[in-house]
Amino acid sequence: DQLREARTALDTPLFAGLPGDIRVSFEFFPPKTDALMAQLWDVVQTLAPLQPEFVSVTYGAGGSTRDRTHDTVARIIREARLPAAAHLTCVDASKAEIRAVAEAYWEAGVRHIVALRGDMGAPGVPFTPHPDGYANAAELVAGLKTIAPFDISVAAYPESHPDSPSQEADIDNLKRKLDAGASRAISQFFFEPETFFRFQDKLAAAGIDAPVLPGILPVSNFAQTRKFAAACGAALPAWLESLFAGLDTHPASRQLVAATVSAEFCRRLYAGGVRDFHFYTLNRAELSYAICHLLGRRPHGAAGLENAA
Ligand code: FAD
Repeated sequence: DQLREARTALDTPLFAGLPGDIRVSFEFFPPKTDALMAQLWDVVQTLAPLQPEFVSVTYGAGGSTRDRTHDTVARIIREARLPAAAHLTCVDASKAEIRAVAEAYWEAGVRHIVALRGDMGAPGVPFTPHPDGYANAAELVAGLKTIAPFDISVAAYPESHPDSPSQEADIDNLKRKLDAGASRAISQFFFEPETFFRFQDKLAAAGIDAPVLPGILPVSNFAQTRKFAAACGAALPAWLESLFAGLDTHPASRQLVAATVSAEFCRRLYAGGVRDFHFYTLNRAELSYAICHLLGRRPHGAAGLENAA
């Protein structure tokens, strides 16, 4: 049935008739300077009328980065009045420190946490828990639930986490995180829709019925994407590399190719029944906005066709 639905939707000329019946969320990283904060604010204001289910702000190593996550999330809630989730990791923090951070989030009105294990600062260094900290994301979820009734999202890996001995073990780990109290998962990015469909089948077979939102990385800078993919073990298809080959000195054309590739990717996910899209925006609005528009998502939830009428 899914295949039939997929074929029908792909036979539709271009994006005609897509009703915008999707749920979207947008991920940002905390800006390092006031100028970059001003840029992010433009992005937030551009994307806000698309009425995301939530937006989220990542969390890094080091005190000042962590303060920036807090300040960015708090500002989005206060001034943009969007439901904003704060990412939180177990890295370099005791349980008491995590409690203090979580309590400050709750006080600032944050009700949604993306709970993660995190990685050590340097690439390739195996994760070592803080002696008084949480050993993994499942423990963090359980700990957060004792602090306040947060809505909690966790990470999922369509191509398995690099530390995982098998996909089965990785799916068991996801199950532990959901059993500990998480209500949804957000996936690592991937570049073939079939990767996500196969993952959905395995989750269903494992009895996981919580929503798993596909993480969409709209590719615009291929060199940067290659670095991200290498760090998290996502397969980078040769066809994608060849589509971006030769465009380094043609930024405008590269952006058009980027929009075409990302939109077609999302259309195929939509055709396969996906209705939730979590965008790794990299603090840029245009590609995510364009994809939402092509999928029929218009400001204030109006469907594309109704808008045009
Ligand atoms: P976990 O779910 O704890 O799992 C990590 C690995 O350990 C898996 O292979 C798992 O199978 C294995 N494992 C866990 N527990 C056990 C156990 N008891 N026995 C055996 N194996 C076990 N990083 C940041 O630093 N900041 C961010 O803001 C951030 N945001 C992210 C958002 C999303 C949507 C995603 C997908 C990733 C994000 N990351 C972020 C990256 C993330 O921190 C890394 O991928 C990290 O290596 C794993 O985190 P996790 O929460 O998936 O870990």
